[in-house]
Parts: sequence; C-alpha cells; structure tokens
Amino acid sequence: MNYKEALNNKIFEVISEASQELNIESYVIGGFVRDLLLNRNSKKDIDVVAVGSGIELALKVSDLLPKKPKVQVFKTYGTAMLRFEDTEIEFVGARKESYNLDSRNPIVEDGTLEDDQNRRDFTINALALSLNSNNFGNLSDPFNGISDLENKIIKTPLDPDITFSDDPLRMLRGIRFATQLGFEIDQTSLDSITKNAERIKIISGERIVEELNKILSTDKPSIGFLLLFKTGLLDIILPELTALNQVEEIEGHTHKNNFYHTLEVVDNICPNTDDVWLRWSALLHDIGKAPTKRFNKKQGWTFHGHEFLGGKMAKKIFERLHMPLNHKMKFVQKMVIMSSRPIVLAQDIVTDSAVRRLVFDAGEDVENLMTLCEADITTKNPNKFRKYHSNFEIVRKKIVEVEERDHVRNFQPPISGEEIMEIFDLKPSREIGMLKEAIKEAILEGEIANDYDAAYGFMMKRAEKLGLKKAEK
Ligand code: ATP
Ligand code: MG
Repeated sequence: MNYKEALNNKIFEVISEASQELNIESYVIGGFVRDLLLNRNSKKDIDVVAVGSGIELALKVSDLLPKKPKVQVFKTYGTAMLRFEDTEIEFVGARKESYNLDSRNPIVEDGTLEDDQNRRDFTINALALSLNSNNFGNLSDPFNGISDLENKIIKTPLDPDITFSDDPLRMLRGIRFATQLGFEIDQTSLDSITKNAERIKIISGERIVEELNKILSTDKPSIGFLLLFKTGLLDIILPELTALNQVEEIEGHTHKNNFYHTLEVVDNICPNTDDVWLRWSALLHDIGKAPTKRFNKKQGWTFHGHEFLGGKMAKKIFERLHMPLNHKMKFVQKMVIMSSRPIVLAQDIVTDSAVRRLVFDAGEDVENLMTLCEADITTKNPNKFRKYHSNFEIVRKKIVEVEERDHVRNFQPPISGEEIMEIFDLKPSREIGMLKEAIKEAILEGEIANDYDAAYGFMMKRAEKLGLKKAEK
C-alpha cells in the first residue's frame, strides 16, 4: 500500500532528499503513522528512523531547510531533534536491542529497519512509511499492524512475554493506548501483562505517573484503571486504591464498594474539567476509607476521619511516585480533605453561614471542590440523585451571592492584630487572638457584615466583656 498523498508535509520531501544525499534509507514510524492511518488528530511529533546515523540525517535535513533550524543532539541515545513549523521531528538510527533482567535500558547495536520494528512496543506502533525516493510512501507492516488498527487490537510484535519483560513500561503504555484509542488488548498480550505485572517495579515513579496522567486525561479513565486492576498492576502501583475493592456485611448492614464508586467519580468528572490534578483528586478522594472503616451497632459502617487520613495518604503517594510536591500536591490534598464538606451541606438545608464557611475554607478552590462533589454523586436512587444535584445548584448560587456580599474567599481580618494592640494598649497576648477569632466567627456566622465599622462595634462589645478598656490617647 502507498500513502504518498498523506505525507504532504514539506518536511518529508526534505528528509527524503537528505537521505538520498547521504545515501541512507529513512522511514517515518510509530505514533505519527498510527494516528495518520486512524485519521486521528496526531500530536505534533514525528519519529523518523534512519538506517544509518539519525544524527547525521538530522543535521543534513537542517542544512536543506531554508531557516536551518537548530538540531538538538542526544549523543548517548544516538538521537537528534529539530523543529519545523509547529512539529518536532525526532531522528533515530535503526537499532537492534538486547535487554538485561534488571533494567529497561537495553544494549543497543545498529540494525536494519526490521530490527528496529522488532523493538517497538505494539504492532500498531511498528508501522513505517518509506521516505526513500524509489518507493516514497510505501507502507512497511511486518506484523499486520494494519489489520490490528482495523480490528482495534493492541498486540505486541514479538512474544509478549519478551516485549513486556524487556521493558515493563510497555504494559502501562498498552493499557494507556487501549484507553486513549478505545482498543482491546489482545488476550495473549493481556495474559502476559498479568504474568509480568511484578516487573513494573523496575520502572521509575515518574514514568508510571506519565502514563497514569495520560489515562486520567482520556474521556473514560475507568477503562484503563479496570485494566490496571485486572492485570494486577494497580495492586503494585496504587494499593491504596485496590484496598477499596471490598464490600462487607455485618448484621445485614453493607457499605458500597468504594473502588468501583471511585472509578465512577473519576469518569463523572471528565466532562467538567481538563485539569489532571482535579482528576487525581477524584481518584484519591476516598482512599482514607479502607483504613478507617469500622462497624458499630448504632451507626452501622463508619469511615470517621477518612478525609483527613486520605489527605495524608495522598501526600505519601505523591512522594512514593516522585510526583511534584508543590502546590499541585497541596491542591489534591486539600480536595481530598474537603471532599465531604459540600455533601454534608447538600443533604441538609443550605444555610448562608454554612456556605460562607465553605467558601472561607476552600478559598480559590471552591468551584473545583463543587465540581468534585457533584461528580461524587453516584447514588442509583433517582430521588436522592435529584435532591443532591438541586441542593448543589443552590450551594453554587449561594456561593456567588455570599461572595458578592461578604467577600470571604480571600478573607483578611478587617481589624489587624496590631490595631487591636494599639486600641487597647496591649502587648501580644491571648486576648488579641480571642478578639480576632470572635470577629471572624461573627462574620462567618453572618452576625455582622465583613467590614471595618461592623467589626469595630462588635469588637468593642466583646472587649468590654473581657474587661478591656480603650487606651487613652
Ligand atoms: P504518543 O506520542 O501519543 O504518546 P507514540 O506512539 O507516538 O504515542 P511515543 O512515546 O511518542 O509514543 O513513541 C514513539 C514511538 O516509539 C512509538 O510509537 C513506538 O513505536 C516507539 N516506542 C516508544 N516507547 C517505546 C517503548 N517503551 N518500547 C518500545 N517502543 C517504544
Ligand atoms: Mg509520539
């Protein structure tokens, strides 16, 4: 088959010309070809394999381009990269790889196109289109990748036990592609993932998270997480999540399966946010429930304090997987810790002061918190479903109203500690903290407005009760 027409980017002509001048063969390969044949809006990165030096080819290509773009050379990997318009083109020499048991870094030798296709992770990622002038656009498909594309199958080119054991990251990539593309993993490959799951332990947290983030960024992450779960990978990567997969019954009381609930929440949040960190929050929002689960005759099943513990666990997960420990982690932690707050509101009558406290505690993140909590409604009881959603709508309206009126989102005390000290001629002391706290409480409870005069009047009354007198000037 020939795909000459599809290779209509000028860069391919130039690469072809450069290869001819160097007297080497070159092919475009991998994700770009896959997405082209799928009519998928490919990300702007193109992989080119040269049967010869990828670095030399890149330098030649740059030389032939009018603007002679800079070539970034990665000597240790034998690769080079340059930018042309809005695409990144990566050049690599065709290679043959052999692996050790304890590392995903292979011993590399120069090889043929076939050798290079053998080392690819999946048949659909091993498709190559010729950039050689004698057969420009010809498809090379040694493993029937085209038929796997048509049948929506993820399958390894070699014996999957070899492909996955060589580089266990491929197990995650396979599950990620299945989720992104809506493909099935071929049964033999899937069985092999289960068999080789333990090998994932040699992969760094950073790489694991890169794939998890891609799964979380799809429309339906549960597809990927269920595959991770069934193959045993999730038990190794995020045991805190699989611990939620239980339903116990005591004296006729059961509780919901919080693992499947969590996956529903993650899917629910997808239409409402692209923010991968809010999606992480959904994934982790209930992890404190496994260790806090208790049963007592009066209340049935309880999970007291699961939010707070969940927040601590989230931080540990971030540390373990080498995720950023900056404001992103803090955000996820805050979402987990506050994840039940609006729900308590939604079950009851929504009062202004409860909303004011919510806005005060959530600050800038209050809308995200509401989005998370709406996604958290997975009840199958249509009456409850409707009631919770309509209560959340009221909460959202009140958030706007209360914010317009009381400005508690970025609360600053209307009277500062220094000013209180001056007014009553006090040294730093417990009374000052008490007065400040009392003013804040009065504002949040709606007893007084959030402004200076109201706070001043309120403070003077409180001060009198504490036996404080205004200092003489
Ligand atoms: P995307 O860019 O959407 O993540 P992709 O298939 O282009 O998908 P890349 O990571 O850009 O993925 O890799 C480009 C190509 O390199 C792949 O299509 C595949 O042929 C090969 N490849 C990448 N990583 C591996 C790996 N771990 N093992 C084997 N081949 C790989
Ligand atoms: Mg790519």
